[in-house]
Amino acid sequence: MDDSPKEACGVFGLYAPGNPVSHLTYLGLFALQHRGQEAAGIAVSDGQKMWVDKDTGLVSTIFDDRRLQTLQGDLAIGHTRYSTTGSGDWSNCQPVYRDVRRHQFALAHNGNLVNTAQLSADLGIPYDGIGSDSGLVAELLARELSDDACNGDQQEVVDAFTRTIPQLSGAFSLVLLGSDFLIGARDPQGFRPLFLGQLDDGWVLASETPALDVVGAETVREIAPGEVVVINAGGVHSMTPTPAVEHALCSFEFVYFARPDGNLLGQNVHRVRQRMGEALARQDPVQADAVVPIPESSVPGAQGYARESGIPFVDGFVKNRYIGRTFIAPNQELRSNAVRIKLNPIRENIEGQRLVVVEDSIIRATTLRETMRMMRKAGAAEIHLRVLSPPYKWPCWFGMDTTDRSKLVASRMSVEEIREYLGADSLAYLDIDDMVEAITPGKRTGLCTACLTGDYPIPVPDSAIAAVK
Ligand code: SF4
Repeated sequence: MDDSPKEACGVFGLYAPGNPVSHLTYLGLFALQHRGQEAAGIAVSDGQKMWVDKDTGLVSTIFDDRRLQTLQGDLAIGHTRYSTTGSGDWSNCQPVYRDVRRHQFALAHNGNLVNTAQLSADLGIPYDGIGSDSGLVAELLARELSDDACNGDQQEVVDAFTRTIPQLSGAFSLVLLGSDFLIGARDPQGFRPLFLGQLDDGWVLASETPALDVVGAETVREIAPGEVVVINAGGVHSMTPTPAVEHALCSFEFVYFARPDGNLLGQNVHRVRQRMGEALARQDPVQADAVVPIPESSVPGAQGYARESGIPFVDGFVKNRYIGRTFIAPNQELRSNAVRIKLNPIRENIEGQRLVVVEDSIIRATTLRETMRMMRKAGAAEIHLRVLSPPYKWPCWFGMDTTDRSKLVASRMSVEEIREYLGADSLAYLDIDDMVEAITPGKRTGLCTACLTGDYPIPVPDSAIAAVK
């Protein structure tokens, strides 16, 4: 019953000898839970041995103190998963572990590759036999390692890794756990975020800055698109094994995915969403009594709209924070109930009011339609829907679960048809230029907006498109 887009994954890595690394990784994963709720895992190394513990479910339901106590070591990586490629069953949980000649490694990945068909054909293994993009990267790395006259040296893995990276096309933020070192890497476009943080006595890698905050790390910087960092007893070593290209960080990290308390491209996500709301109020003003967000990611945008328009910000809904998975509801009545479990209107704030309702994006529109019905039932006099991003018309191949274009309502209907379908009195989307300006004031570069414009930063092979049909 949730038709918001889903993020592919969150990754975390920690090099901190002498610290409780599995407990700290647990905290980091907890802060990244919004990036994937299907599975989670932690791998640790004590310099000699490596342990991996992973399962389906939420971080808090998989790990408890007893389980974390069994994961003793000096360095660790972790992963939260939502399956945009491969099935969501246990075999595809991450980190992926490999033992190759005298090396062990564990790997965790955020993003989707677009050349998996080519790579698995080159390897001579059907993609189904590998299971996920992460399994494919691990297999490529294992092949690179097994080609070497192996002496178990750290540099062998680093060299094999930097030979593997240029073979990949698409979105990847990777963390790799070696016996006594970590590697972090971002694809040349930088589709998915990855940050470096510093502890008093260690280093941290994480998809988002709040995961650095919760373990007490100072944010040092973003890992640059195309950069590989190796973290070991000697500190942080940076290299760039791929040629520089134009950057293309996913703009939907700002619209929906990333936590509002984090920073991306030097911009606070909460503040960016407020700017989107301010721009929308300038672009599409309307006479109304209250500005109401659809919680939670739309709240800062609604604050911005209210501030710019002078219309009061009002809470229109209570969101149930404890909801887990809902079910596939078999009929309309149960579908309405399922939405209501998650979001219940505050009738006193809605009845008789002319509302500006702010939503971050419209992907499939099914849940939003139920939400609009609830507002009408609660007595809304007028509903003016304002969307903090342009119409989502094109599939994403870089780590969202929006590869099926037929499911994207804006690819099938005009804005007027969507307004009618949703039962709104008016509907307006933020223009692409205003969205980009709100994200990167004065810059206008460095973002992927392919799902909004159809202009893909890298070519998407037919094999990637066929694989999801
Ligand atoms: S296509 Fe859209 S969702 Fe996918 S990476 Fe680009 S901006 Fe993000």
